[in-house]
Parts: sequence; structure tokens; C-alpha cells
Amino acid sequence: MPELPEVEVVRQFLDGHLLGKTISNIEILTPKSFIGDPKLAQNQKIIKTSRIGKQLSIHLENNLVLLFHLKMTGQIILGEFIFGHPTPKEDKSILPNKSTRLVFTFSNGSKLFFNDQRKFGWVKIFTPENLEKSQKNLGRDILDSNFTLKYFFQQLQTSKRPVKSVLLDQSKFAGIGNIYANDALFLAKINPQTPSNQISSEKATKLRKFLIQIMKESILAGGSTAKDNKYIRPDGSSGQNQFNFRVYQRDGEPCLICKTPIKRIKLGGRGTFYCPHCQK
Ligand SMILES: [Zn+2]
Repeated sequence: MPELPEVEVVRQFLDGHLLGKTISNIEILTPKSFIGDPKLAQNQKIIKTSRIGKQLSIHLENNLVLLFHLKMTGQIILGEFIFGHPTPKEDKSILPNKSTRLVFTFSNGSKLFFNDQRKFGWVKIFTPENLEKSQKNLGRDILDSNFTLKYFFQQLQTSKRPVKSVLLDQSKFAGIGNIYANDALFLAKINPQTPSNQISSEKATKLRKFLIQIMKESILAGGSTAKDNKYIRPDGSSGQNQFNFRVYQRDGEPCLICKTPIKRIKLGGRGTFYCPHCQK
């Protein structure tokens, strides 16, 4: 699932290519993938992009906002980069394909495809007030300046659940998913099963620092295209941050510090990876 860094890479890409473009049409191929009246976005110029956690907003000149949530397998692909550039994995040069749910056409004829194999993702049209309401239940974004150590430590204190599961709770921390939770816990040498409220302030300091560090590192690397190959950038290319994974999807491989094989367990239903020696 795309997490904060992947959504931020997509946002930056769209910011560089969509600002000033006018939406002339939104074609809905899968009704559940678009919520609201697409006509409200018609003939509207894109004036801004923004992101909180894993949610991406495209702001229109009439003040309405198109909110994208990629969920498990959502992809945003710009047609201008794809046609004539097939990639080895599948022929993405043929769009729309069977995973295409929405097609946005701009007044200059260029297109944006919203692809989503598993159909959990969506685009929804919001007024600014309704958007604020819908995002009120989100915790603070990891890269926002209001994600302070005080806030982080306080939130960790509120739960006895395993710290790994608490990190994934979007109502506390917006943007962390399975990749970055696993890797940050490894770097901070914290066992993922540790009850959240038993994390010392010293450990919390480290954990917060590493969370921010690996998210920034991933953005610079274009995000993580993990083994499922679902995340791609809007030009159809893969990210490169999967080569920076410390423990995520490395079960059985040697720990980067002590060479002990990385272990995989299930925690809260999610694959959890850690070094039994370094993360006692
Ligand atoms: Zn180790």
C-alpha cells in the first residue's frame, strides 16, 4: 500500500505537471471509484496540490477539492509519459486497461488515469469545509512540523497495544504504513510487540527521528515499489526505496547489523519483520 512517501512523490509529480491545467472531462469506468458529481470539476483549473498522511488533494479554482485515496493498489498515471513506453512488468502503454477506473481528460488533450486493481481506492469531490471535517479524525502527519516529540510520546502512552500496531493507527499518526513502521522500529532497536505505553521517552525520541529520516529518504528515492509491484510513479516508473529496506520483506535474510536471520510474524493481521537479536 502506498504510504506517506509514495503519496508525496505522486503529489510532487502532479504538482509539477498538472498546475494550471483545466479538467475538461472525468470518465467513470467503475462507479464506486468516484464519489460525488464529476460535473462539479468540469472546466475547472487545477490551482494547488496538497497531502495529509496518505491522502492526496487536488484543489480546483472553484474551491472544490478532488481527494484521492490510493488504498491498496491505486495508481495515478499520466498518459503523456506512458504511451510508447512499455515497461517489462506489464504493457502499461495500453491505457485504459482492465484496472483503469477513472479517466481525467484535460483541455490540452492530455489524460490522467486512475488505475486500481483491487478497487479499494477512490476519488471524492469535497467542499473545503467537508474535507476538513472528513480529515478531522486523522492524526498528525509525520512530516508536518506539528508532529512533535511531545505529541508522539503522548500518543504512544495512550495504548497498551503492540507499538507496531499503534504506529499504523492513522488517527494517531497520519502516513505510516507497514514498510516504514517495520524499518523505523528496527533502526530504533524496539521489538514490534512491545506494548506502546512501555516505550521510554528515550526510545520514542529515536523512533520519531528514524520515522522522519526514512520517510524523507524514501521520498528522495522516489518511494518504495515493494514485491507486489503495485506502486508506480505517475510516469509509470518504479520507485527505488525498496533497495533501502532494513527488515521489511527481508525475512530469512541476514540482519544488516548482526547477521541474525530476519524473522516474520503476524501482528494485528499484518506481516511484521524484525531482528530477534537487535530488537529484544
Ligand atoms: Zn540484528
